[in-house]
Amino acid sequence: MSNLRAPKRTSACPCQSGKPYGECCRPYHRRTQEAPDPEALMRSRYSAFAIGEIDYLVATLHPEHAEKKNLPEEMLRSSLRAACRDHRYTGLTILETSVDGDRGMVRFVAKVFQRGKDISFSERSTFERVGGAWRYLEGETA
Ligand SMILES: [Zn+2]
Repeated sequence: MSNLRAPKRTSACPCQSGKPYGECCRPYHRRTQEAPDPEALMRSRYSAFAIGEIDYLVATLHPEHAEKKNLPEEMLRSSLRAACRDHRYTGLTILETSVDGDRGMVRFVAKVFQRGKDISFSERSTFERVGGAWRYLEGETA
């Protein structure tokens, strides 16, 4: 799916890694590579929200993620589209990350604005490897 908001390969990646998009989250968004660890998946999901990569956001949810499991896919997609449309994602800070076998954790602060209002939050996200690929399982405010 083409994405009009996709940055150029040489633009700074929206996950704020300091790397160009083409050398950071783009290969994951294009599905030519899987994110190698929970932090990379977290970053690529944040940048996917920033640029509206809905397919990627759906694909990287764990099958047991509450919304993926309980919402019809079209409702899930429309709520993700609304989040991408109504919010500005201006920065990501990773505070802590750990991996234990096929489970991983990332604690982060996401800078997010909704129509000019700062709704930034910190979260502790849990990731699990499914068939060799890291997927987002759940998050709690931290
Ligand atoms: Zn990135």
